[in-house]
Amino acid sequence: MEEWKSENPPALTFDKFIRTARLLSPMKDFELDEQEIEFRKHPLLDYWCRINLGRSLRVKQAHAPSDYDDTIQEVIKRTHEKCFFCPENLETTTPKFPPEVAPEGRLRKGKFVLLPNLFPFAEHHAVGVLSEDHFLGLNEITKELLEDSFKVSVAYFDRIFKLNNEMKFCSINMNYMPPAGASIVHPHVQITSDIKGSGKLLEILYKSKEYHKAHGTNYWIDLVGTEKWLKERFIGTSGAVSWLTNYAPMGKNEVIGIVTRPISHFRAFDETLISDFSEGLSKIFTGLWEKRHVRSLNLTIYSGPIDVDVSEYFRVHVKLISRPVLRPFYTGDTAFMENFYAEPIIETAPEDVASDLHSIW
Ligand SMILES: [Zn+2]
Repeated sequence: MEEWKSENPPALTFDKFIRTARLLSPMKDFELDEQEIEFRKHPLLDYWCRINLGRSLRVKQAHAPSDYDDTIQEVIKRTHEKCFFCPENLETTTPKFPPEVAPEGRLRKGKFVLLPNLFPFAEHHAVGVLSEDHFLGLNEITKELLEDSFKVSVAYFDRIFKLNNEMKFCSINMNYMPPAGASIVHPHVQITSDIKGSGKLLEILYKSKEYHKAHGTNYWIDLVGTEKWLKERFIGTSGAVSWLTNYAPMGKNEVIGIVTRPISHFRAFDETLISDFSEGLSKIFTGLWEKRHVRSLNLTIYSGPIDVDVSEYFRVHVKLISRPVLRPFYTGDTAFMENFYAEPIIETAPEDVASDLHSIW
């Protein structure tokens, strides 16, 4: 295991510049209002994001809006009866794997059930039902539920790879609740096994390799070391996983968990790492739920190709961003800057998110 000494000076530098927008604000009797916009560059991926720190200060008081509680209760009630993933319906209404993948039909461990996605967008695209409960708050997704889901997912990747050793690009993902794109309320994960890596993953792998070539060190380990040193965005560790917020986030409340052991893909996961990963992730879920009032999110775990060890320059890492709260009338959270310019507008300082999550660690 690579230990990080916090006395090591930061290996990374973070680029930013600040510009000031000036306006005569009706909220200040048309006095001059100056607002700082901080442009931050991602240290590996080169993209920029923009943070209006004034906005971030205002958003700190954000709570789940009062109409959330009524809406969520109504949605849970309405979707419960005919839910495919609830135990009374699962056997008869969800698909089974073909015999070459799983003669037993579906893969199970504890309360976790893995089955094929009815409408796949990958050659091997499975859905994992996390629990028998139709709805779980993020703070109710326990370490044990996550552990079972990771164990079965890793075993699934292994089965598919043994069937076809071209299936080397694997991912574990979660869309939690409809504002994050989930069509089913019942908590679930989506896992894919593909012949081709997605564009963003390939970019991350390429940039990580270039960084290693240029500096002779591993970007992911340098990032963990730098953030531990700076103590501005570092949240904590769970065994061999370090949790922090992203200097230049892609989305709201963004958190990253980085495996510090030399492990670059899912097939190298062992029980200890699965335990470390699940422990940290369940804490992050709880922190986001309780301290940041997150009620929906997207999550992905980036893995290198499972047929080769590239831990010299890459480490498995998970990334989470929050999505809007479920409510009848809503404002979307991505707009022209995110969708057409890939330059996210961030309203919450990553340092504030880290501080809130660190408080429960
Ligand atoms: Zn259900």
